[in-house]
Amino acid sequence: MWAYPDSRSAVRDALRLSRAMTYKAAVAGLPLGGGKGVIMLPESGPTPSSRRRRAALLDFGDTVERLDGRYITAEDVGIASRDMTVIAETTKHVTGLSRARGGSGDPSPFTAQGVQEAISIACERIFGTGDLRGRSIAVLGLGHVGGRLAKICARAGAKLVVSDIDSAKRTLAEQLGARWMDPARALFADVDVVSPCALGGILDHESIPRMRCAVIAGSANNQLADDTLGDLLRAHGILWAPDFVANAGGLINVAIELEPGGYDVKRARERVRGIGDTLREIFDEAERTGTTPLTAAMLLARRRLGETVRAPQTQPARG
Ligand code: NAD
Repeated sequence: MWAYPDSRSAVRDALRLSRAMTYKAAVAGLPLGGGKGVIMLPESGPTPSSRRRRAALLDFGDTVERLDGRYITAEDVGIASRDMTVIAETTKHVTGLSRARGGSGDPSPFTAQGVQEAISIACERIFGTGDLRGRSIAVLGLGHVGGRLAKICARAGAKLVVSDIDSAKRTLAEQLGARWMDPARALFADVDVVSPCALGGILDHESIPRMRCAVIAGSANNQLADDTLGDLLRAHGILWAPDFVANAGGLINVAIELEPGGYDVKRARERVRGIGDTLREIFDEAERTGTTPLTAAMLLARRRLGETVRAPQTQPARG
């Protein structure tokens, strides 16, 4: 759920995000397609009342139900667990419901775990060690994923710079002993790692040449303004962990709900750790073929999609 200036922008975002979901599921080796639901709020005007918010969620659930299982919805930006419970009033095609209701709960901790794996693997490649002790990391966006990631990195001994448009998040910065930075400056902080955990589109022809980090790995979907920017990142000596690889932890977690054995948290943690191995393979392949991690990751996704398309039972899209 997000505010857009007009419905065309919301549709464009839904299409970009659903493409990313397709790549994400394929690279993670999940037997799923890719889809994304967008609930559009007007960009200007008051925040909807709780009654109107509830009506929008029920309406969204109704739309999901009409797709009859070809699309399964899950929590994402602007949506909390209690919203998923409302959506579940009108459709059964929901994952990520609370553990008490038989679901896998909030996926964000698993997304954060996967991003931390990605940061470590990228650091291993650049600095020779994945140990985050003493590593300087800027976390942009202290929401469900970024807040959790900042805590994990702080526990691992990283020196943190944090940023959010919501100044109430300063409290977390103080708790973690992190340096607070204005969002307009944080992307260009002089740190080892930048971890974008807010919204996408922040890496473009203007921002990349001004960045001073060696590694970018974060949860935000669609971080690149366009697909040609993988080359620009490489030209500027920045190792980018493709977003749809680094942020797959939440999807891997909820996908376990759909397995015959049902949800199991241990299996989820173990599979999310696999993001590190996948990323290592992608970096190796990019080095071997002289391409970018984006190209290597997209080729891996397309290869797996080709295999899935030929396989007899393809499962529904979700996200
Ligand atoms: P969230 O809504 O909980 O948090 C987003 C945070 O970013 C908020 O605190 C918001 O104030 C802040 N923010 C917004 N614009 C900002 C800006 N310009 N600069 C700094 N901070 C800004 O969302 P989330 O669930 O933590 O997800 C974060 C990103 O990760 C999104 O792009 C989401 O699509 C992606 N993602 C999330 C998950 C998940 O499990 N939640 C999984 C995969 C990808």
